Amino acid sequence: MSVDKPADRVNSAREETEARGETFYPGPSRTHLAAYPPKERWDDWTELDSQAWPRRKERHYSLVPTTCFNCESACGLLAYIDKATGEVQKFEGNPEHPGSRGRNCAKGPATLNQITDPDRILYPLKRTGKRGEGQWERVSWDDALDDIAGRIRKAIIEGRRDEIMYHVGRPGEDGFTERILAAWGVDGHNSHTNICSSASREGYQLWMGLDRPSPDHANAKVILLISAHLESGHYFNPHAQRVIDGKANGAKLIVFDTRLSHTATHADHWIAPYPGSEAAILLSIVNYLLQNNLYNREFVRRWWNWEEYLSVEFPQLETSFANFERILRENYSEYTFEFAAKESGVEARVLEEIARTVATAGSRFSSHNWRSASSGISGGWSVARCLFMLNALLGAIATEGGVFPNAWNKFVPKPIYTPPHPRMWNETTWPREYPLSMHEMSFLLPHLLRDGRARLDVYFTRVYNPVWTNPDGFSWIEMLIDQSLVGCYIALTPTWNETAYFADYVLPMGHGSERHDIHSYETHDSQWLGFRQPVLKAARQRDGEKIDDTREVNPGEVWEENEFWLELTWRIDPDASLGIRPFAESKNNPGSRLSVDEYYEWIFDNSVPGLPEAAAKEKLSPLDFMRRYGAFEVRRKVGALYEQSVPTEELEDARQDRFGRVYTKTARPASANTVPLPTMAPDPEGRRFAGVVVDGELKRGFPTPSGRLEFYSQTLSDWGWPEYAIPTYIKSHVHPDNLEDDQTVLISTFRLPVQIHTRSANAKWLDEIAHTNPLWIHPDHAAQLEIKTGDLVRVETEIGYYVVRAWVTEGIRPGIVACSHHMGRWKLREQGQRQLMATVKLDHQGSEWGIKREQGVAPYQSSDPDTLRIWWSDVGVHQNLTFPVHPDPISGMHCWHQVVRVKKAQPEDNYGDISVDTQKSRDVYKKWLEMTRPADKYSPDGTRRPYWMLRPLKPAPEFYRLPERSKELVGAD
Ligand code: SF4
Repeated sequence: MSVDKPADRVNSAREETEARGETFYPGPSRTHLAAYPPKERWDDWTELDSQAWPRRKERHYSLVPTTCFNCESACGLLAYIDKATGEVQKFEGNPEHPGSRGRNCAKGPATLNQITDPDRILYPLKRTGKRGEGQWERVSWDDALDDIAGRIRKAIIEGRRDEIMYHVGRPGEDGFTERILAAWGVDGHNSHTNICSSASREGYQLWMGLDRPSPDHANAKVILLISAHLESGHYFNPHAQRVIDGKANGAKLIVFDTRLSHTATHADHWIAPYPGSEAAILLSIVNYLLQNNLYNREFVRRWWNWEEYLSVEFPQLETSFANFERILRENYSEYTFEFAAKESGVEARVLEEIARTVATAGSRFSSHNWRSASSGISGGWSVARCLFMLNALLGAIATEGGVFPNAWNKFVPKPIYTPPHPRMWNETTWPREYPLSMHEMSFLLPHLLRDGRARLDVYFTRVYNPVWTNPDGFSWIEMLIDQSLVGCYIALTPTWNETAYFADYVLPMGHGSERHDIHSYETHDSQWLGFRQPVLKAARQRDGEKIDDTREVNPGEVWEENEFWLELTWRIDPDASLGIRPFAESKNNPGSRLSVDEYYEWIFDNSVPGLPEAAAKEKLSPLDFMRRYGAFEVRRKVGALYEQSVPTEELEDARQDRFGRVYTKTARPASANTVPLPTMAPDPEGRRFAGVVVDGELKRGFPTPSGRLEFYSQTLSDWGWPEYAIPTYIKSHVHPDNLEDDQTVLISTFRLPVQIHTRSANAKWLDEIAHTNPLWIHPDHAAQLEIKTGDLVRVETEIGYYVVRAWVTEGIRPGIVACSHHMGRWKLREQGQRQLMATVKLDHQGSEWGIKREQGVAPYQSSDPDTLRIWWSDVGVHQNLTFPVHPDPISGMHCWHQVVRVKKAQPEDNYGDISVDTQKSRDVYKKWLEMTRPADKYSPDGTRRPYWMLRPLKPAPEFYRLPERSKELVGAD
């Protein structure tokens, strides 16, 4: 009897569909979904009006693409704009988008809720009372711009560039704002990445020089996820649909997650390890592959930097691959399944079964770790590093079904202007204690300012709500209400949030369908460019209208950021005397400000290969093509770029070192256009890295210092961490050795699939689906504590506690508790969002802070009749306020998991109570600071940071030098 395989079933369904005469959608989605309107009819798409039923009343729509802004995936959306009313009726998927292929999660269509939110901010507001008092007056954009531009100009002229900071949560764009800061000559970029994904990035960068994986899930034989990719992982909808494609094609899915996620429910192997033990499990699989010769020897021989490892660590040995293999086996022999079982609490036989499954994958092994374990624990970067070691052993890198470096599956076009690298180093974002951090030490800002290291004169937040999102939010409030620390705080936000209450200006910015951006993400083995646009502007331009400014089409005076930043830049330097204005000036009409249309027109005309030709075929300009379809696929099946040969004849004055690395005086070899090269500072004679010789041939290689995959990190060794020079298991801050008997581990990092970090509160459909965050607790654990579902429990952290309801479930490892961070929104008074924010009372006495809930949500009268139908009152509990900062000494990542005590609530406790002592959070900050190995002491070359490592807004090389040692080093040179 033959058994029908899933892949056969998919193919036969496809054949049947084609046999019925139906065709697949011809655009990038290449799938059959009859609901997609053919693109030829996007100018006048007709649907029947459901509200007119049973009459057949037609409604006519212009379909205009844009990009969702509700997570980092940047899926395509199609706005259905009613031709009669000129309003958006709904958002659906854009089948022309190569990443999302016409599909969205619930948050995409909920963009409609956000643009029609009756509580949204429509006009620029300026504080009138004290910070946080909630007194505001409406001001004109002109007045706000002149005031802010004047402050920035003054700071620049007075040499206080380090007092200007832009702090972004969800960027949603590729480099526009970084270039604005570079134009100002300011090293003022700050991001949210160190509370998000820095740990994983560190692990990946150490191996391959690039900081994100791009797994080809759809073509894998085995998929290993340390994340919840089917509901909330990185690039979640585009990856989720490809994980399901892979499963439909017969792939085995392995999921490590201490909590039963939706992803785990789809797994062939789900294990719930003790938090922080993941790297031990991964290394036991490594050991199994090594001891049983189940790895790709040829790939390891060609592409690992084993020669460098042997020559540095074992100089007495002959540098032969045989010696390396022997040492490799010895190194990892201690990682037995029994050892991993002891650390993880997962049976050794189960781990062995998983290892056997991994071994069947060959080069079709796709894996992903993003937040999850990496972001939870100290040393979390080693989880990603050990996971990628499996790919590196199997040769499953840039293969069909393997994992690609992100930059190879991403397309970033050259912009109209590229301002020079800032000629400064900002110690507030890149303090010398964290020379290897993957991003800015953003969540330490209140502590760094309180240390007296700096002050800020102009501080912007954008799509960012640190009081709510970051750990230690009360320290953020203390910082923001102190005007000696922050001179002027400007919140750029479409909707009210907990941080904006403490601003001087609240400036209303557009949602995903009200603004321009371009972006490209590593969703699969291809390169595509997406275009976010204000859909009402695009629709009216399609009808021949001239629209100059998005405020002409957006509600109230909501603006888009591109225009805001260009205008602000123009006003900072109105006479071009500071050399800033030229970066915001039109090329077509010199002397006038660059328009957003010209900005994108230049990019689409000049720096997207194939786009002008594709547009010409449809008799469109490249800009009109992007306005019409919203995305362009630049190339498909990028392949193994590291194997690309470098023609040696194009290299000027090339030199080769003993490890085969070739350096040249050629500025940028022509063949380098598609492969990122290591960004090492040039040698004293001006030579740059060009490639690496492998078996006698010069190859492009990987953008690491060795040009190869770095099993051995000379960087870690040189910068004070020789014990971690090769992939290693690190016992984390939540390891059982570090816990007292009555303590347990809280997993606080998981997302709810239908919520957005800080922007979901104004999406009523999403609020109705998910509006609470109970504490997950296993029945055995709950029985010990005599707790039932719905009981109030107190969760005590190092600095305080919160009170939440329990949810007793077998979906969590016994003895561990979990609570989603996607809930617990609050406001101080009725002003603000009313669908998912509780009204609270803020208590403050010295360093002691507390929150008491005064009122949950309730029905209310507004321009939207649905607000009278609100049936939920709960909004969850804000747990992040009770977490101190835990900066990992290497990656800089905030280690989110908490060591807590869970107790039955006290008689005086009420749901949503929060209590924190910020003095205790200072003490924890200082304790973690002591674990660092600062550049002052450990830098091998007098610099602040290895130049080759990625860094947003990289300063000019000379500003990498530590000032105190520069003189001494110049002498030494
Ligand atoms: S995954 Fe959902 S929220 Fe994220 S971009 Fe796609 S549709 Fe939007």
